[in-house]
Amino acid sequence: MISRRKLLKSLSGLPMVGGLLGTGFIASGSIAAPLVRRDYFKELGVRTFINAAGTYTSMTASLMPPEVIDAIKYATGDYVNLDDLQDRVGERIAELVQCEYATVTAGCASAITLATAGVLTGLDQSKVEQIPDLTGLKSEVIMQKSHKIGYAHAIRNCGVEIIYVESRKDLDKAISNKTAMLWFLNAHNNKGEIKHEEWIEVGKKHEIPTFNDCAADVPPVENLWKYTKMGFDLVAFSGGKGIRGPQSAGLLLGKKDLIKAARLHAPPRGNTVGRGMKVNKEEILGMLVALELYISKDHEKEWALWEYQIQMIHDAAGSVDGVEPTIHVPEIANHVPSLKLTWDQDKVKITPDEMRQKLREGHPSIQTVGDKESVGITTWMMQPGQERIVSRRIKEILEEASS
Ligand SMILES: *Cc1c(COP(=O)(O)O)cnc(C)c1O
Repeated sequence: MISRRKLLKSLSGLPMVGGLLGTGFIASGSIAAPLVRRDYFKELGVRTFINAAGTYTSMTASLMPPEVIDAIKYATGDYVNLDDLQDRVGERIAELVQCEYATVTAGCASAITLATAGVLTGLDQSKVEQIPDLTGLKSEVIMQKSHKIGYAHAIRNCGVEIIYVESRKDLDKAISNKTAMLWFLNAHNNKGEIKHEEWIEVGKKHEIPTFNDCAADVPPVENLWKYTKMGFDLVAFSGGKGIRGPQSAGLLLGKKDLIKAARLHAPPRGNTVGRGMKVNKEEILGMLVALELYISKDHEKEWALWEYQIQMIHDAAGSVDGVEPTIHVPEIANHVPSLKLTWDQDKVKITPDEMRQKLREGHPSIQTVGDKESVGITTWMMQPGQERIVSRRIKEILEEASS
């Protein structure tokens, strides 16, 4: 056993522990709970920021409500059987979102891989171990060209080839005895020639499961049940976006037999494509509580708050000569009041890239999005009150660039 003196000596060699010894972290003879709350991000030199951007993975997506954190803390205190917990939570989630069956996955991308694996193998354990070798199995998933998205790599993880189609005629021609699934990107419904209902109809006609990726598609809350009721066999959401659950959790909703097959590829089972997609008991419970909270919250009130916040930033920016702010709401995915800032760069002498950099590097740091022409802002991932800081700072930068 390492002696206390040796322990202290080795700890004090670490840069951050010098401070700890001074704050009473190590009290009379034993390592006690910290008396002063540690500022871990500061100790690590990692900057925190106001999220005026939205639910971006690189920005750690969303902040979990206190009730979710309580559930996570609760779950740390006892062992349970992982499958039992998934069974019960899945049943509860299915009730909440009015579908046949559900499971918590390690994000929406994990839901895509597990669902694909499940439709390939069904409940056949030897096939579960076989993939991504698809000898003797179906080997293709069809999607529309306009639904092409990087996240669909999660399908190819299973060794499957993606077949792209444009028209209904293409689709009918592409379907064969190799087709395992018809995949749909909800956010691009309007971009493709084939819409939701027709996609489902073709799937049913050929008895091929249909999947709808709805990762970022709440709000509105109704989307949680809309697409399973419409007839998609499988629907997936990110847990850490609008639902504000754990960032590394997600939901797979739909048909019981297909989700049971998907779960054969998920931990605790080991010889599977999904072994690296573990969801721990804390995240499973946190996901359930986040979903309960999300469904029962006052969505109109929240929307009114977002409108008020975005209007405040709009007005602050718009008060500077030459600045043209516009408020818009994306139709599907990130469907929240959003601000697009553009300006006459002869009057306001700063580029959008420079503007984002100034916001990011200021105190406090503020993260926004956008492109070469504009700066994009949403308020739904802010803490209430931060809209005032963002308004002031944006106006300040625009005014400085004007003088
Ligand atoms: C975010 C996103 C994903 C990935 O979701 P995770 O929960 O981060 O795994 C998949 N598809 C779409 C359309 C997304 O927006």
